[in-house]
Amino acid sequence: MPGGVSSPVRMFPPHPVFMARGEGPWIVDVEGQRYLDYCLAFGPLLLGHAHPEVVGAVQARVAQGALFGAPGELEVALAQRVTRHVPSMAMLRFTSTGTEAAMHAVRLARAATGRDAVVKVDGGFHGSSDSMLVKAGSGAETFGVPTSAGVPRDAAKHTVVVPFNSLPAMEQALRAQPCAAVIVEPVLANIGPIPPEKGYLQGLRKLCSEHGALLLFDEVVTGFRLGLGGAQARYGVVPDLTLLGKVLGGGLPLAAFGGRRELMERLAPLGDTYQAGTFSGNPLSMAAGLATLDALAQQPYDALDARAASLRKALGDLARDQKVGVVQGEGSLFQLFFTGDDAPVRDATQARRAHGAAYMALFRGLLERDVYLPPAQWETCFLSFAHTPEHLEATVEAFQACLGSG
Ligand code: PMP
Repeated sequence: MPGGVSSPVRMFPPHPVFMARGEGPWIVDVEGQRYLDYCLAFGPLLLGHAHPEVVGAVQARVAQGALFGAPGELEVALAQRVTRHVPSMAMLRFTSTGTEAAMHAVRLARAATGRDAVVKVDGGFHGSSDSMLVKAGSGAETFGVPTSAGVPRDAAKHTVVVPFNSLPAMEQALRAQPCAAVIVEPVLANIGPIPPEKGYLQGLRKLCSEHGALLLFDEVVTGFRLGLGGAQARYGVVPDLTLLGKVLGGGLPLAAFGGRRELMERLAPLGDTYQAGTFSGNPLSMAAGLATLDALAQQPYDALDARAASLRKALGDLARDQKVGVVQGEGSLFQLFFTGDDAPVRDATQARRAHGAAYMALFRGLLERDVYLPPAQWETCFLSFAHTPEHLEATVEAFQACLGSG
């Protein structure tokens, strides 16, 4: 396995820690060492590890057969549930990964508009399909390949990249050529978390409508994390197509894309736009998704967000005192950017100024203090409902010790 891993961001020198199990906010390595987990599998585990209801639902299903390659009742139940929470998805299709959801949503947008160009945001990550791997953040950022080798120039040439939080740049891109879509993470999460400035998402909505481009919200990270209705409910902006993943599957491979009925009916078998998947809608992922949404409906999102805000405040004060950088995020997302000052980071150019090696020194120091962050500066840390105020207090103390004021 190249780098010894199944996905590049998991690698850190000299070798990653091998994990064996998880329980609530804890992840446990093969030697039995427990760490408070703020990576949470890069976002999905909003309920924490091994949530009993999700475990029980999957156990009950697997005994009845894992895959049929035919429709089943669980898909209908989950589709209804998702649609109720995210009304802009009048129709949806399940996929196994966010990469597939993004690739197929972009294809659908191109089919529906008859246009090729797609605008994405610098540092926005929408999975690893060819046309989305341009200035893509996440592992592409960490390993210095913001645009991957092996992507045909012909595939990349239809991808226009603009800075986040700039409406003038977006307007210019939409004027310069007919565009099928604007695809954006409503809160950037793959270059560290960067919230949208006031009016930015509303401005995108307006520009897309004016220029006949579809607005695609990639809510693979924000969906069900920034509340049950995702970022679109939080900011009050209705996209044309939505991508979900991560939290939706409660730890199993599950993603979805959806939107208005007349758009979605362009998909095969009803329409002319092809999309398919052997594992799409598989009963185990459906069972995990249903159990996850059931459990999330009982959870106090406001309390979680307040807990995250006080963690951001405590870590931010620390970062300012030590003059190492700035802590920012939204909802239950946070990250310390090692920028050297406390000015907010508002786009990828500013995020790239952060000191990746300083972050890795913190990462290693925290690992020794039983705290596990995502192993790269340009990733986002997450909280789960299983993290208590006591866990967060212990985490602030560990940061204090690492940043030199403990
Ligand atoms: N979109 C966003 C916003 C993501 O964060 C990710 C994964 N980090 C993806 C798409 C791709 O999802 P997957 O890894 O499930 O293919």
